[in-house]
Amino acid sequence: MLLTITTTHQPATDLGYLLHKNPERLQTTELSFGSAHVVYPEANHESCTMALLVEVDPVDLVRHRRGPTGGESSLGQYVNDRPYAASSHLAAAINKLFSTALSGRCKERPELVDAVMPLEVWLPALPVRGGSDLVHRLFDPLGYDVVATPIALDAMFPSWGASAYQDVRLGITTRLRDLLEQLLVLIPVLDDAKHYWVGPDEIERLLRRGGDWLGAHPEREFIATRYLRHDRDLTSQALERLLEVEDIEQIEGTNDNAEEAVERDLSLNEMRIAEVVGTIKASGARRVLDLGCGSAKLMQVLLAETSADKVVGLDVSHRSLAAGARRLHMDTMTPRQRERVDLLHGSLTYRDRRIEGFDAAAVVEVIEHLDPARLDSFERVVFAYAAPRMVIVTTPNVEYNGLFAGLEPGTMRHHDHRFEWTRAQFESWARAVATRHGYEVNFVGIGPLDPEAGAPTQMAVFRR
Ligand code: SAH
Repeated sequence: MLLTITTTHQPATDLGYLLHKNPERLQTTELSFGSAHVVYPEANHESCTMALLVEVDPVDLVRHRRGPTGGESSLGQYVNDRPYAASSHLAAAINKLFSTALSGRCKERPELVDAVMPLEVWLPALPVRGGSDLVHRLFDPLGYDVVATPIALDAMFPSWGASAYQDVRLGITTRLRDLLEQLLVLIPVLDDAKHYWVGPDEIERLLRRGGDWLGAHPEREFIATRYLRHDRDLTSQALERLLEVEDIEQIEGTNDNAEEAVERDLSLNEMRIAEVVGTIKASGARRVLDLGCGSAKLMQVLLAETSADKVVGLDVSHRSLAAGARRLHMDTMTPRQRERVDLLHGSLTYRDRRIEGFDAAAVVEVIEHLDPARLDSFERVVFAYAAPRMVIVTTPNVEYNGLFAGLEPGTMRHHDHRFEWTRAQFESWARAVATRHGYEVNFVGIGPLDPEAGAPTQMAVFRR
């Protein structure tokens, strides 16, 4: 089976960098069901074409029970279209060979990853259950120019009509990674072969590959149904999750998060996360707490970017915890992933033995939500009882507020803030806490530094 991808982006040979496959040579990769070859029939400045040829060994498929099973004749197990038709095997080959491009990495030319370029795809033998019409229904809404031509069952006998295969050409100007993701999902959907078992992992795969575009696709239900092999439970779980992803974005876009709106232009939230994760990483902490974790944005990065054995979030809000569980995909984690993470419902103003025995705790943009009269309890709970070796606390620096365009003078960044401190106020509170509980503390500004007002976020790092 064959797939070609052509670009006229210049220099067109950038395609080789993006795919992580050198246009100069033929590359062969062994797959569990056969082998895949990548070769470039054309590679010059103006135009570059990559051809992926996948050879499936049908005998091997049978031996390893990967081929068609069930009602097929025994001959059908050996003589079938899998070696020629661009099926889920092609999708599996794309997944394996172009994993770097799919993950959005490009070592030598990182700026290319987000480059939008003209791309043309040719699938000379795409099995389609549903005709040319279906190819249009799936690819048109994503912005592709589609030419789908049915292939005659037998060229010698036109009266026999069309086969189940289409010669498909797709044209689009997009990022290569988006194109690959869409092919990965839609090729097996067009084929609709039901010859392998699907489990909850497939939902993850579908959401990972389709998360950015499937929620808004008019055929999302059809796509999810076929991708998940008509398993009703899995399909409804996937749809629920797709729609919830949209929900969370809506909540966070509008909601309570006036704060985020004020700070958004600076991407302060990302900077805070980067700074906190960097500090935790540098400390070598293995067991990490996120206190007042909200919807688990920090936890998500901690899980992905550190080798921490355990990351535990705690929050007083059920609704935030539910959003966090969805963000982290808690319900479909493998048992091993599940062991690494926990979300706890609780309050930071009551002693909680579940948060004792950790190496580090992050308390990011939380203290200003506490009633000042409860700050003493918070201090005892975190610094006397939980007492991790390192505590990171961040809070707004009110001196910077005058520099936020969208903020009325004299108002706080969020309506639920009980106070916002100057640097002097925060530092004097933090030094007193450190002295009372045997910690050393130092201070770091996060965000653009103004010579008068300082940085928009202030961070204290306590160590003992
Ligand atoms: N740390 C997150 C959320 C900050 S918003 C982030 O940076 O995105 C403040 C969070 O503190 C909210 O999720 C709120 O529910 C939580 N919170 C407020 N009071 C709390 C308390 N007493 N105990 C635990 N969490 C609390």
